[in-house]
Amino acid sequence: VNRSDVNYFGAGPAPLPTTVLEQASQVLLNYRDKGIGLCEISHRSPEANEILADAKQALTTLLDIPDDYEILFLQSGGSGEFSATVYNLVAIWVEKKRAKIAAEVGDDQEEVLKRLRKVVDEELKLDYLVTGSWSLKASQEAARLIGAQHVNVATDARKANGGKFGVIPPEDQWSLTPRTSGGGPALAYFCDNETVDGVEFPAFPKSLEGDDAPLVCADMSSNFISRKVDVRKYAVIFGGAQKNIGNTGIAIVIIRKSLLPPHSTPASPDLLRQLNLSVGPIVLDYPTIAKNNSLYNTLPIFDVWVAGQVMSGLVNTYGTKRIGGQQEISDEKARLIYDTLDKYSDVYRVVPDKTVRSRMNICFRVHGGDADKEKAFLAGAEKLGLLGLKGHRSVGGIRASNYNAVSLDGTKKLVAYLEDFTKS
Ligand code: PLP
Repeated sequence: VNRSDVNYFGAGPAPLPTTVLEQASQVLLNYRDKGIGLCEISHRSPEANEILADAKQALTTLLDIPDDYEILFLQSGGSGEFSATVYNLVAIWVEKKRAKIAAEVGDDQEEVLKRLRKVVDEELKLDYLVTGSWSLKASQEAARLIGAQHVNVATDARKANGGKFGVIPPEDQWSLTPRTSGGGPALAYFCDNETVDGVEFPAFPKSLEGDDAPLVCADMSSNFISRKVDVRKYAVIFGGAQKNIGNTGIAIVIIRKSLLPPHSTPASPDLLRQLNLSVGPIVLDYPTIAKNNSLYNTLPIFDVWVAGQVMSGLVNTYGTKRIGGQQEISDEKARLIYDTLDKYSDVYRVVPDKTVRSRMNICFRVHGGDADKEKAFLAGAEKLGLLGLKGHRSVGGIRASNYNAVSLDGTKKLVAYLEDFTKS
């Protein structure tokens, strides 16, 4: 089967531009005529440093990332960042509280610790907006690491939707931790695009804005570089590379520099242990990764190279429009699919609510979820080279993932099939 005969709509890992893959096979064999391939050279070589710098530059250009943000590359995957955000931001929160108490009570370390314990017990909260399977997993990881008593699920979308994901409850119904008295949560977390449930935040949540805004952490694994982002509103943005950006192997973190030394100091491991808070692995420690330009340990430079090629490809394609150019295409592809699904609503039903439909993962049912009809739909699609359309095993149905490397032409082929299938 030829690559060009196939359009792959899988949710990730996902397609990459063919031109990048062609160059990739070349650099694997012989990078820049050195006689050795990219997976075989040191991550500390000048070549590797250049690859890192170029990838950072391309992402900075695409998303217009301000100077006071740092870009990190880690091997954590998206899931590793569920843990990293907790470890890092809890340590910052604790140290701030410690410093405040120390300023009040002076040198009496025992008294500082006693008061700090009380503050941690009573005030340490991490807010989670649970709008789908991935934010649910992130909130569960937070509870596993620091204790469920510290995790505030500010909203659980299932409660507003008969036990299933598919909506984002109105913000006035969220129970965010109050931001008063120099306090507030250690972080406020949401997943910008829920890959399994097809739910995407249409815009940045208003209640997480403002001068006293909490430190917002957002998982953009499945909609990274698909639309404009006002980076300044976030403390941490992260995502695994394997959907819109590159191949599996790295996660990208965009972090506000004020959360890194010398601007912020995390609580020491000793202090965290004394407070019965867990100490994170060094490879998830943002200050360590930042200090070492993402090269604290061996970084898969080939993966960074692929991501860099994809991102600089977008920079070249869209010029001054930057990510806005990709956004137009992503929106158009999603619109074509949803319009068709809505047009034939006697056959198709889009799962999530209209107001929160993901542009990236389009989840729908065929003939009310009839198992045989959905099987027939998938089999018919496969015959046409329209692959990867099966919904996630936990929710069933159909899911068309509409990542950047899915071409407008590929989308049109899917749309034609959606129309044809209604006649069968
Ligand atoms: N977050 C989202 C939104 C995802 O879609 C995924 C994976 O599909 C993850 C996190 C987990 O990523 P990883 O498998 O790299 O840990």
